[in-house]
Amino acid sequence: MTSAPLIGVVARGRTDGGRYCAKAAYVDAIRRAGGEPLLFLPGAPDPSRLLRLVDAAVLLGGGDVDPKHFGGRGHPASGPPDEEQDASEIQIIRLLAAGRLPLLGICRGVQVMNVALGGTLHEHVADAFGETVPHRASPQGSVAHEVFVEADSLLARVLGTRRCSVSSSHHQALRDVAPGLSVTARAADGVIEAVEKAGHPWFIGVQWHPEVTAADDAVQQRLFNALVAAAEAGTVGPIE
Ligand code: MN
Repeated sequence: MTSAPLIGVVARGRTDGGRYCAKAAYVDAIRRAGGEPLLFLPGAPDPSRLLRLVDAAVLLGGGDVDPKHFGGRGHPASGPPDEEQDASEIQIIRLLAAGRLPLLGICRGVQVMNVALGGTLHEHVADAFGETVPHRASPQGSVAHEVFVEADSLLARVLGTRRCSVSSSHHQALRDVAPGLSVTARAADGVIEAVEKAGHPWFIGVQWHPEVTAADDAVQQRLFNALVAAAEAGTVGPIE
């Protein structure tokens, strides 16, 4: 018997090769933290029912959010939309923002968090910020860059540092920050790299990929450790 907290992980959608899936690195990072992942499939008619089963949730990296959700124009570098995944994640984020269940959004995850709560996105980082700080390899793939974390943020307490190197693989980023969210980390070029929600016990989105380096980088593993600890601490109220 184990009492590992259950961590709901929203799988990538069916338009990603016709399979719902989640990379093993996320599963490994959650298990190292003492949690047990439970995959949620996009398209569930009543996600609140799924959320009642778990102690925390994670949103994964993935494709671009449909620009129609934030009044965007679309960009040639963007991938095809996945309406089922967008709709499910937006629904889940709004439920969790109004409650107390811990939520960690990763890469696409932080972008959907912002859009779900009324924010907008830069549809191509290089157009707005240039390429002084590469945020992904060209045309796709990971690069490392530094992030600078705000003092007095939950993120600073979680990471235990105000400056760290991260694995980055994104071409979009937060533009107008949604009401209720605050920026807690940026890259050297000013790109928003993390947000959190004041008044919520544990609601953090990061633009980078902590799961990629967490096995060898204790600072990045702390994001998953802190999420599972918050899940375990029962700061959680019912989802209604
Ligand atoms: Mn970045």
